[in-house]
Amino acid sequence: MDKKKIVVVGAGVTGLTVAYRLLKSGGNFEVVVLESEKQTGGKLKTSRFAGLLLDEGADAFLARVPWAKDLFDEIGISEEFVSPSSRSASIWINGSLEPLPSPNVLGIPLDPDSLPSQLLNSDDALKIKQGGKPSKAIPEGTDVSIGSLVRDCVGDSVFELFVDPLLGGINAGVVDEMSCETMAPQLLEAARHEEGLITALREAQQNSDPESPVFYTHPNGMGHIVEKLTEQISGSIRKDSNVISINHTNKQWVLETNTGSETADAVVLATSAQNAAKLLTSVSPTSSSRLSDIEHASVSLVSFAFKNSDISIPKDQSGFLVPRSAGMLMTACSFSGNKWAHLDDGSQTLIRVSSGRVDDQRHDRLSDEELVKHLTDDLAITLGLDSQPLEFRVTRWPTALAQFKIGHSQRMKETIDLLADEAPGVFISGSYHFGVGIPASVRSGNEAAVSVIEKFGIN
Ligand SMILES: Cc1cc2nc3c(=O)[nH]c(=O)nc-3n(C[C@H](O)[C@H](O)[C@H](O)COP(=O)(O)OP(=O)(O)OC[C@H]3O[C@@H](n4cnc5c(N)ncnc54)[C@H](O)[C@@H]3O)c2cc1C
Repeated sequence: MDKKKIVVVGAGVTGLTVAYRLLKSGGNFEVVVLESEKQTGGKLKTSRFAGLLLDEGADAFLARVPWAKDLFDEIGISEEFVSPSSRSASIWINGSLEPLPSPNVLGIPLDPDSLPSQLLNSDDALKIKQGGKPSKAIPEGTDVSIGSLVRDCVGDSVFELFVDPLLGGINAGVVDEMSCETMAPQLLEAARHEEGLITALREAQQNSDPESPVFYTHPNGMGHIVEKLTEQISGSIRKDSNVISINHTNKQWVLETNTGSETADAVVLATSAQNAAKLLTSVSPTSSSRLSDIEHASVSLVSFAFKNSDISIPKDQSGFLVPRSAGMLMTACSFSGNKWAHLDDGSQTLIRVSSGRVDDQRHDRLSDEELVKHLTDDLAITLGLDSQPLEFRVTRWPTALAQFKIGHSQRMKETIDLLADEAPGVFISGSYHFGVGIPASVRSGNEAAVSVIEKFGIN
């Protein structure tokens, strides 16, 4: 087989996965990864803050699903991973921090008696006790919103108190519009259990090991994982190379970049859906238009370092979530030093405060100083903070988190088919396919690599 040149656009975890899989596949591939930034990793970015290595974007990945863990096992760094010292989180409810129910699945309490009385509506507590059956069966192959499923099975109060703050905060989205099939397939499957959602979730929980880690990170930050992955494919990466357009000429794909043009037998776009849409405008207008319809939320994070004596946080908590009904700018606050032992140096308290939802972009209109001021005010309300930080750092993530509306997976399948018709040899991957997290991004990178391998074969 002639050597085939594959150009991957984007060196976030998805693009690095595609390149790694292609180079290790045994296929006769020359792989070039074009990355617009000066560094690889995209939203996995660690830098020194207050003398410690603190993540500016993702700070952990789910341990109980495959893909990311499998990849990191392969590159030999898994033994260095650590899991959170504290697993409990709270929610800001009616002016105080209430612990998330224990046990819970995505915020849904499995035992209403474990909650403070009066918190849950009594009808909803009864629904949980009775197993949480939906009012009508959800047929296989049908998608529903997480909001409608939870409200139907266990009531509005469960949704509004716990599930909406948790999932709406993590995904910066509107949970009443979120695809259950993509974002919480375990809830959809459980709701189809003949005894109801809660019964199925309880059974699944009884069969899982409560001691097994839920999240992993690296003590030198997620950036260290990127470094190790980048080392595996280092000769293939070109940083500072922004791809501006893609065209098809003489049976080859031609990518115009800020530094010249690049030809390819196949192209894998491993960017956000919005950036992929821009690059596909001339070669696949239909898929481009569909991708540009996928909404993305922008988020801003402020990391603070306080002198230990200047701030009081519950030592057994990893952080807290703020529901949209509270009207605050802050959506979540992570106690980094409680969560990760390597971020507790004994003298300062590190916290990361998030802001921004797809329908609340106030943070985008604020200057860095105004953002810090507003979030410090929110910390004063929630934690009683009355001191100034030793240091703070603002990180902005524009159009960062894809929003998965009902029917997303079906639309993605159709988009991939349209792309294959209009631009055979151009593939898409990224965190807008299977879900927003790192494992889902790696999964999407794996699948894109398989598509390239299927097109050209190995031998
Ligand atoms: C604040 C925040 C916190 C998060 N926390 C977690 C978490 O704790 N756990 C978790 O699992 N997930 C988390 N996520 C989600 C996770 O970080 C992302 O889903 C994942 O990193 C996406 O990887 P990616 O490679 O698909 O995209 P990106 O990381 O966005 O990488 C895309 C790359 O493509 C490059 N690029 C774009 N356009 C072009 C172009 N035209 N030419 C060349 N290069 C281009 C970009 O510069 C970028 O480097 C978080 C996300 C955010 C924003």
